[in-house]
Amino acid sequence: MNMRQGLALDIDETLAKTTHYWVERLQLEIGNPEGLSVDEAVRKYHLAEFVPYWQSEQAIALMVEMAGSNEVQEGLPLIESADTWALKVHAVIPIVAYITMRPTSVMSGTHRWLRSNRFPDAPVFARPESIEFSQAPHWKGNLVHTLFPTVLGLVDDRPSVVEAFPSDYQGTIFCMGKRLHHAMISA
Ligand SMILES: [Mg+2]
Repeated sequence: MNMRQGLALDIDETLAKTTHYWVERLQLEIGNPEGLSVDEAVRKYHLAEFVPYWQSEQAIALMVEMAGSNEVQEGLPLIESADTWALKVHAVIPIVAYITMRPTSVMSGTHRWLRSNRFPDAPVFARPESIEFSQAPHWKGNLVHTLFPTVLGLVDDRPSVVEAFPSDYQGTIFCMGKRLHHAMISA
């Protein structure tokens, strides 16, 4: 693949307020026994999958449906200023890839969302359907490792992704603004 050197970005909770959308739908369609606002629920649980009263078959089915819907990806709210932030970064170090644990089946909705929010044009790597979601952090860590040094580092929100990187990774992982480990960017 002929790519410039630069950074890869995660999408969900790095650029898109995916959990806000999910929590709003789950509160409306499954229930909100604590009476929390969407913001309060996100602050308390971080991800919808961690909410103890949304572990029912019905709740999980709704999460699976949302995860697999191109229309849902296309309509996700943006994290405030993520679009302008991405352009500022891109002017200094190119954004050369988007790497997401979303399944490849929602690639088209993901592309449309990135385009409609004017994110820098770059290839999207999504999780192959053969990789189960539980293995997705390892898939992502290995992929970013393989793409080094074209992809010099990854911006991501999930600690489980950071933990899944091979121990000899030479790039830089930015976890929600915190630079955690690994060698300096040498570009
Ligand atoms: Mg994420």
